[in-house]
Amino acid sequence: MRAVPRAIVTGAAGFLGSHICTTLLSNGWEVVGFDNLLTGEMGNLAHLQGKERFSFVQQDVTQHIEIDGDVDWVLHWASPASPIDYLQFPIQTMKVGSLGTWRALGVAKDKGAGFVLASTSEVYGDPQVHPQPETYWGHVNPVGPRGVYDEAKRYGEALSMAYHRQHGVPVKLVRIFNTYGPRMRRNDGRAVPNFIKQSIKSEPLTVHGDGSQTRSLCYVDDLVEGIWRFIGSDVTGPVNVGNPHEISVKELAELVAGIAGSDSEVVYIDRPVDDPEVRCPDITLAQNEFGWEPQVSLEDGLARTIEWARAAWF
Ligand code: UDP
Repeated sequence: MRAVPRAIVTGAAGFLGSHICTTLLSNGWEVVGFDNLLTGEMGNLAHLQGKERFSFVQQDVTQHIEIDGDVDWVLHWASPASPIDYLQFPIQTMKVGSLGTWRALGVAKDKGAGFVLASTSEVYGDPQVHPQPETYWGHVNPVGPRGVYDEAKRYGEALSMAYHRQHGVPVKLVRIFNTYGPRMRRNDGRAVPNFIKQSIKSEPLTVHGDGSQTRSLCYVDDLVEGIWRFIGSDVTGPVNVGNPHEISVKELAELVAGIAGSDSEVVYIDRPVDDPEVRCPDITLAQNEFGWEPQVSLEDGLARTIEWARAAWF
């Protein structure tokens, strides 16, 4: 590897992509970000514009990716990732997970670079093993509305392993569990931004179903630290990176309202099709292989996110 590692980050203008770029740059790397801005926003990269080691290309990575010079790592983060986004853009979601992953792997192969795939806990679908270890193969409905995301990511994992086995591309598969923090979109429809927005505006907290379904939420700084350590390890994975602190959606809504000092009350509305009942990472592998575990409590992370949202969204 050269003195200053050079990385391509697809999906650079997204919530997670922008945090990844920031971390790589602050560790001295050079970063070329790609994004077609379908769900990403340039505002997420405002703090990086003009930095010497950062450049940005507005491009759909399902098209041929052209880049001069050496590349050490390709981090493939591009994809709609919120349920309302991938329900609105089902074909783009499948294309970026299939063709986009193929293009990105092609760059890694061509440049002799390592490849990191942003995979997801959605590969476990509506899990019948709980918590979910990486050895669990999952329980996904391929033809349901969420199938476009779940199956695209599963295909991405399979394609990455094919490049690893056939072409020797150093591959890393990270299965990202629910993550929250600054730079989430106000209207991205996920539970945390919805409950924050509703709490701040004193609107009802829209809990789907009876709210007994669970999620395990990781603060973005912890997630990015996990990915950074994973890159520095010699592990291919897949590796779960997420926070094993599990909470019901109803408890989450009430917690957000409490921290925001809101008088919003819960209303129960229809549950989306195939919404997973439970989700919680088994992080033993990440703990053992690269000594990672989350540091930020849900209360602290939500407080930081609410503070950010008050300034950024309103
Ligand atoms: N959810 C909810 N109210 C909302 C948004 C989401 O009750 O306004 C629920 C959703 O049905 C799911 C959980 O919160 O059970 C997490 O949803 P999110 O969209 O954040 O992420 P997912 O884990 O489904 O990808």
